Amino acid sequence: MKCPRCVQRIHRAAASCPHCGFTLADADANFGSEDVRLRCLTDSAGILRRGDRPTVEAAMEKISRRFPQIFVAVYTGSLGEVANIRQFGFWLLNRAAFEDVPVEKPNEAGILITIDPESKAAGMVFGYLLDPFLDESDTFDCLTRAHSHWLEGRYADGILRVISHLDVVLRKRSRQARRDPEHFERKAGLRARPGDVVRGIRAGHGHAAEEKAEEVHR
Ligand SMILES: [Zn+2]
Repeated sequence: MKCPRCVQRIHRAAASCPHCGFTLADADANFGSEDVRLRCLTDSAGILRRGDRPTVEAAMEKISRRFPQIFVAVYTGSLGEVANIRQFGFWLLNRAAFEDVPVEKPNEAGILITIDPESKAAGMVFGYLLDPFLDESDTFDCLTRAHSHWLEGRYADGILRVISHLDVVLRKRSRQARRDPEHFERKAGLRARPGDVVRGIRAGHGHAAEEKAEEVHR
């Protein structure tokens, strides 16, 4: 991952950034040290129009059915002038208790999109279980797809573009992981439950797996 403060590459397991000393405690000092209860789609900035919410929620549900181990969350809010959206996203993914995400999906398997319409900033962070499958250039590409929509105030359209490109990227990685699972398992290392995610994203590609996931949701 990259350090949320100095943006240098650091090891996810590092207690603090070896370059600038950044820790979660620094982010807590800015944004609070309590866990935050919220829903997967939280529009605190009030930028979604009437009727947008079901469309965005449907796209979020669709991608988490296709890749049953992950989930996508969206947060919009005004962070104020001093706030850094990269640090905020990192902090929120660590502190959020998503009420409508099944407990078997930890935040480590989450992908969080944050939008601050006031400072015209957006960010995208993901939990470490996605490290083998996503990198910063992927999230940059996803956000690029939304850029023109967000500049024009069409926030829901932009979010849909992000999710749709994320779907393309994850499908591609799932195909690569099926062809060369060892490569992805090496990338996952010997962390908490790397095999589960590798299996999940690979399995999530297939139609059968999608149906199975729907059963679980019922
Ligand atoms: Zn740093």
